[in-house]
Amino acid sequence: MAYGYCPNCGCGVRYRVSPQQRSPWLQQLASEIGRGEPAVVLCYGCWKPLQVGDAVEVLDPPLAGPVIRYRARGVVTAIEPAEGGAAYQVEGRSAEPWQFRFHRSRIKALTEGSTGTVSLQLRSG
Ligand SMILES: [Zn+2]
Repeated sequence: MAYGYCPNCGCGVRYRVSPQQRSPWLQQLASEIGRGEPAVVLCYGCWKPLQVGDAVEVLDPPLAGPVIRYRARGVVTAIEPAEGGAAYQVEGRSAEPWQFRFHRSRIKALTEGSTGTVSLQLRSG
């Protein structure tokens, strides 16, 4: 078991690395990952491919326009192609209604309860 942090939202990530093949060097590599510097691993909420209807929270609110706070919650209502990846139309679910288009890195999927330990598999070839 090792600990890292998500470069996108800064949350802590617990992960486990296991080798997929029975090769001594892969097993050694897997056992050594996580020692020393904490790893940088996208957390589940930042990694999860989003779909319409998914609940999200805002990591990087827009400066102008509607009042959207950091960690405001909303729901993805549309996904549109855009420059530099898809744009996610998000509708606010707080007292004041809002709508905004975000790039994926500016929102995080809300996951129910604890996301547990991320399991990564190492394989060669
Ligand atoms: Zn994250």
